Amino acid sequence: MDRVISKPRSTTINMPTLWNAIEATRSSIIVTDSRQPDNPIVYCNQAFLDLTGYGREDVIGRNCRFMQGKDTSQQSINKLRNGVAKQQHVRVTIKNYRKDGQPFWNDLIMSPVFDEEGVLTNFVGQQLDVTDRVTYEEQLRKSQQDLLRSNKELEQFTYAASHDLQEPLRMVSSYLQLIKERYSGKLDEDGETFIGFAADGASRMQSLVNDLLTLSRVRTTARSFKPESLEALMDDALANLQTTISESGAKVTRGPLPKLPVERTQIIQLLQNLIGNAIKYRRPDRTPTVHVSAARKRGKYVISVRDNGIGIEPQYHGRIFGVFQRLHTRSEYPGTGVGLAICSKIVERHGGEIWVESEGDGEGATFMFTLPVRP
Ligand code: ADP
Repeated sequence: MDRVISKPRSTTINMPTLWNAIEATRSSIIVTDSRQPDNPIVYCNQAFLDLTGYGREDVIGRNCRFMQGKDTSQQSINKLRNGVAKQQHVRVTIKNYRKDGQPFWNDLIMSPVFDEEGVLTNFVGQQLDVTDRVTYEEQLRKSQQDLLRSNKELEQFTYAASHDLQEPLRMVSSYLQLIKERYSGKLDEDGETFIGFAADGASRMQSLVNDLLTLSRVRTTARSFKPESLEALMDDALANLQTTISESGAKVTRGPLPKLPVERTQIIQLLQNLIGNAIKYRRPDRTPTVHVSAARKRGKYVISVRDNGIGIEPQYHGRIFGVFQRLHTRSEYPGTGVGLAICSKIVERHGGEIWVESEGDGEGATFMFTLPVRP
């Protein structure tokens, strides 16, 4: 900041008026005399006295450090000292104490005052009580940390639970299979039916556990973003969906897709889930068609997966991205309700957003997600 050298100026107000104005303002102001040892306060206005609870006689002649306490940050004090030593403007948010011992956060700006010869004569300090703001920021920071910690714990829990459930589930499934094979024809009709239900339940639980594990792995795997051609990744996704595509007779097309820094396996999974859903939620009276395209928008790409299926009514557009959220029964359409939650996490991890557009009138749905050009 440039030095403001005071020189006689033509002014439309006289000195007493200027003086009265400084006394009247609600901004708290002090002036120190830097030519005297220890830079003592030589003036303070009424607002300063109101803010600190001190009387003029307590303040004049003292260095402003009398407002500091044991827990005032040394870093802020050093910043102030540095500014004063270098004869520069300095701004710090510092913990100060009122006369009654009450702490307050002071947004303090100290500015050097120079005479006509450019010699430092004083400092003028302006203070603002920002206790409410600092307290709010501290609370916000604390809740963010709490949220991060509980999210992490939840992720670890989901991972551990789904991982550890796999083994006993595999055991239940394989023994049920064994009973089925070994005792088929030896049980009565009810027995056969009950074992069928149990095997069905176990395999459904395996799908749920696997999907939950995939979901928790999205975050727990190490980040390694590499430039990848989305066209090649879509080819991989289509190869994984080969059976679904041929059985349904779906026509999947695409426009030109960009090369972007992404986690390869996750984007394959994302495209596979979205294209898989586009085919699964088809109308029985139509050949399912799916078109994938990309459009560049400031610093990112918007990728769209458009289908001509049953569509989704607008009131469900937010809900479907939650874990276990489904709009249909398993007998209508199979699934666990985790697929879109996985998509949402993958996109979030890449710094993008995901949403759906659909009128819900049976005229299809378009899932859209953004991917930043830079990770
Ligand atoms: P799942 O398919 O296993 O049920 P998802 O999380 O992939 O789980 O999808 C959640 C719900 O969103 C589905 O149950 C379905 O109702 C709806 N949905 C997803 N994709 C489509 C789509 N392309 N068209 C219509 N509905 C869809």
